[in-house]
This record gives sequence, structure tokens and C-alpha cells, in this order.
Amino acid sequence: MTAVLPDKHGFFGTFGGQFVPETLMAALDEFERAYKQLKRDRAFRDELHDILGEFVGRPTPLTEARRFASLANGAFRLFLKREDLNHTGAHKINNAIGQALIAKRMGKQRVIAETGAGQHGVATATACALLGLQCVVYMGEVDMARQELNVFRMRLLGAEVVPVTSGSRTLKDAINEAIRDWVTNVRTTHYIIGSVLGPHPYPMIVRDFQSVIGREALAQLKKKTGALPDVAIACVGGGSNAIGLFYEMLPHPSIRMIGVEAGGRGAQLGEHAARFSGGALGVLHGTRSMVLQDEFGQIAETHSISAGLDYPSIGPEHAYLQEIGRVEYHDCSDDLALEAFHKLSESEGIIPALESSHALGWLLRNGQTIARDAVVVVNLSGRGDKDVPQVAAL
Ligand SMILES: *Cc1c(COP(=O)(O)O)cnc(C)c1O
Repeated sequence: MTAVLPDKHGFFGTFGGQFVPETLMAALDEFERAYKQLKRDRAFRDELHDILGEFVGRPTPLTEARRFASLANGAFRLFLKREDLNHTGAHKINNAIGQALIAKRMGKQRVIAETGAGQHGVATATACALLGLQCVVYMGEVDMARQELNVFRMRLLGAEVVPVTSGSRTLKDAINEAIRDWVTNVRTTHYIIGSVLGPHPYPMIVRDFQSVIGREALAQLKKKTGALPDVAIACVGGGSNAIGLFYEMLPHPSIRMIGVEAGGRGAQLGEHAARFSGGALGVLHGTRSMVLQDEFGQIAETHSISAGLDYPSIGPEHAYLQEIGRVEYHDCSDDLALEAFHKLSESEGIIPALESSHALGWLLRNGQTIARDAVVVVNLSGRGDKDVPQVAAL
């Protein structure tokens, strides 16, 4: 299990790889080489560490949530890893800063990204403003209308937001546009992918930048409890906050790890984004993983109350961890996530993101199965301010 993955072709077992046009292979190669070299570069590591400390606000706190634990019928101790307290309100900034720094070191003055709900777009625009990089964000027209405030935020931060009018005018169409731009401008441009998705080396690099979450959590738990946690839980969209929490814990077989996907409104295709219960092996956006698709291999529509979990594929490393049985994956419905959203707000004074509420919802329903005195850590991937208008309208 401690074998170093991905392998040199970017595979985690049979998942992952580089399913991209030939024109992008050189750019992926350049990105990987730059990363491998910078990972050992003292000045780069110091710069990243300083920005995470002084701009992002790391290390994020670890907060014990006693009242929520008792609502979950638990006799366990519950700790929340507070990624919601990062600058810009979620874990995505950890990766955006890391990749923007690499782009700058590679001499690429232009960054592109794509965004669905706008969270990754805001994180990328923020990183580019900080580092003085040009930033272009592709966003489906439908998503732009739904997420007006984030569009305005990105523009305030100096980014150009390009409306995508093709297809369903949502995230997958924005991804296609971003890839098209990258193919055309690859010499001057770096494409910042926001989760552990896409072709190798993205799933590896995004994981490494997010693994600061679990590294900090282990040290903080050790200080507070004197031991390793027994259970670690995180929501899984593409899977970056979850792998960020889990990665440093993988070598410890005593830690039970649980990823929670969006169960949406029901088990029928189109009503959820639960790739493990409803998906099949497939290739989407450059990587082979579990994909929600119809009987003809056409990518399925997905639904979740939370935009950040609403994606038809999952990071290839998660597909691998599920296959080997190291991490369990479960679903949480829209309704249960909403219940957890309210309960955490009322019992702890923390309004969680609807994404993170899925991890909390699973615990709310299954808390009674967790051993007495167990130590449980939940990744609170983001804050819920962005979701308040949506919840208020429900
Ligand atoms: C984007 C987002 C997620 C989902 O993305 P992952 O890559 O699965 O972490 C989860 N929580 C929040 C707050 C997000 O913004």
C-alpha cells in the first residue's frame, strides 16, 4: 500500500493515465518535470510555505465538535479540520496557489481554468492576482447565471471570465473550451485543474498540494489525543479535499477512511453523482476512472444539491482505493446533507458548505455504529456562506 503511486505512466492500478490529444503530451511532460524539480527546490518550498502561512492562513485549526457528535448519537470524539477558515473559504486555494507558483517558475504568464460553481475560478483568480499572472476562466453561461456573485468576484480579482455557450452551457462544456484554449496557447499558458482529475500528472500534483490537510490534522490530533484518529471522513466531488485528508493516513492500517459522494434525489441515473454505486469504467477529460454513463457510454447528467459534488467522474486514485478496499465510499442524499447543514450551524456555530455537509450527513445517520471513545475527524472542506441564498430559497 505504501508503494509510490501513480506509476510512471500516471496509473493508479488500472485507473488514471493520459488520454489527451498528442499536442498536449509535451505540456504535460513539461509540467511534470517542473514539478518534480521544484518539489526539491528549497526556495520554491519556502515560498509556498510562506504564502500558505501568511496569505491562506495555514495551519487551519482543528475544532472539537461535542454538541454535533451527540446529535449524531455518538459516544466518539469528533474533530473538524477547518478548511473553511482558509482565505477564499475552502481547500481549493491550497492547490491553486501551488500550481500558480509552478506556472510562474515555468515562465508561463497566462493561466486558464474552468469552473462550475465558481469556487475553483475564484481560488485561481486569487492566486493569479497575488502572483501577477494573467487569468482567464471559462464558465458555462448557465452556471454564470446561477453563480453571479462568484463571476463578479473573479472579475474584481482581475480575471477575465469567458462565457461558454456550447452544449449544455455548464461545467463539461467549459472544460472542453479550456482544453481547446490550452492546445492553442500551450507555450505561454498553464491550465490549472481544480481537483484530482484530468490527465497525469494533475491527480498526483493536486493530491500533493492538498495533502497538507492530513499532515496538519495528524499532528494536531496527536497533540490533542495523543494518538492517530480511528475514522476519517470527507466528501468526494473530484476528490481533492478527501485525498488531501486521507493521503498521509493511508500507511496507517488502523485508520478507517470514508469518502461520501452525492446521493442526490435518488438512485436513478441522472438523479445523483454517486460514481461508485452508479458508474462504470470509462474515460472522461483525460483520465480513466469510474464514470456515470448510459448504456451507450454517453456521459450521464448528474444532480446534487451541492455544485461542488456534481460531476460525472471521480479522481482515479479514489477509484483505485475503492477497488483495493482501502477506503469505503458511501452516499449522502440532498435531504440528509441539508439536515446536517442546519444541525452543524445550530449546534456548533459553524455554517458548513453543502459539499462538506455530505460528510457530516453520513456521520449523522451512522454515528451510532462508531465505537465508544473513537476519535473521528471530518474534513470541513469549505464554509457555507456561498450556499446561504440557495438554502434560504429552499
Ligand atoms: C469544490 C469543493 C468540493 C469538491 O471538490 P473535491 O475536489 O472533491 O474536494 C468540496 N467542498 C468544497 C467546499 C468545494 O468548494
